Amino acid sequence: MQDSLTLTIYLKLIHSINKSLNQQLKKVPVILAIESSCDETSAAICADGMILSNVIANQTIHEAYGGVVPELASRVHQQNIVPAVQQALLDAKVSKNDINAVAFTRGPGLLGSLLVGVSFAKAFALAKNLPLIEINHMQAHVLAHFIGDNKPSFPFLCLTVSGGHTQIVLIKDYFDMEVIGQTTDDAAGEAMDKTSKILGLPYPGGPMIDKYARLGNPDAYKFPEPQIPGFDFSFSGLKTAILYFIQKNVKLNPNFVQDNMADICASVEKRIATILLNKLKKAADEYGIKDIALAGGVSANTGLRQGLLEMGAKNGWNCFIPKLEYCTDNAAMIAIAGYHKYLKGDFVGQNIAPLARMPL
Ligand code: ADP
Ligand code: MG
Repeated sequence: MQDSLTLTIYLKLIHSINKSLNQQLKKVPVILAIESSCDETSAAICADGMILSNVIANQTIHEAYGGVVPELASRVHQQNIVPAVQQALLDAKVSKNDINAVAFTRGPGLLGSLLVGVSFAKAFALAKNLPLIEINHMQAHVLAHFIGDNKPSFPFLCLTVSGGHTQIVLIKDYFDMEVIGQTTDDAAGEAMDKTSKILGLPYPGGPMIDKYARLGNPDAYKFPEPQIPGFDFSFSGLKTAILYFIQKNVKLNPNFVQDNMADICASVEKRIATILLNKLKKAADEYGIKDIALAGGVSANTGLRQGLLEMGAKNGWNCFIPKLEYCTDNAAMIAIAGYHKYLKGDFVGQNIAPLARMPL
């Protein structure tokens, strides 16, 4: 009799602890995030600002064409999106019913690619009666710095360098960002990709240039540094200078590129990195800011990462460089941006549409 009473009290106690735990868990926002702006289909789960999973499906189909083919990209997104989300749920050990909100990349990007992610996010939210959170892809690259413990303090400067963008951004708050400098023509990633094409290397070129640069002398060849006013950039003149340099030398030695691949890549990488870092230093000095971050696909570049750390050590900067998995396009950065919008209650309706161009 005594034993069964103790058991009943014990079971009631367990039940009430479980109930309060469940209530607490419900308060923790669990966000499903979708990224499909270019040629990566990515899904991530974040719970209370912690990334539980980040699945990235790359599209190899574009290699044969030397660049992303938009129509093919959207078709592959259609094939990849459901498996990517399923895998993200599995990796995070989270069920569809645990999700509290769906964040998605609204733009900027390829319209057809964005449409796949936006439509999926809207359908999922509609089926599960969940709020939707729109995310600007370029803001998300910057906000990737709020994944993990080592976070920059506001205001800070971020050099966002990708295949489509090159910007120096002044970040005053999570969603209060100002572009203070940007490219007037090609992006830094484009300069990497176009150079690698001139050298006959496969797409995407940035990682190939990085690989060869590690084996070469960065001072072997001198390429020009464009003189652009303010904090803006230009890369098209550099691209032409590299093209003429290669054409001139190949006339003298048909094997010039093959014989000197490592030195050419190291010299090009050094010039692109110094163009970027010199402007970043100018902006840091002018704004008196010491917290300096890198973001976007080109921030995976070894020379640029080392260059920033060296410049940071000389100038007393706190440098923030994302983990490699958060440099190129990924849904974890969409999830962390989504988490901060969730906290503000910043949601959108089912009438939302993607935007190929979307200012910061
Ligand atoms: P986007 O969002 O514009 O598609 P991403 O943020 O995915 O761009 O970045 C892709 C760009 O990053 C490509 O131009 C690619 O060549 C470049 N990139 C990736 N890794 C490296 C690297 N290690 N070194 C230099 N460039 C790189
Ligand atoms: Mg990107």
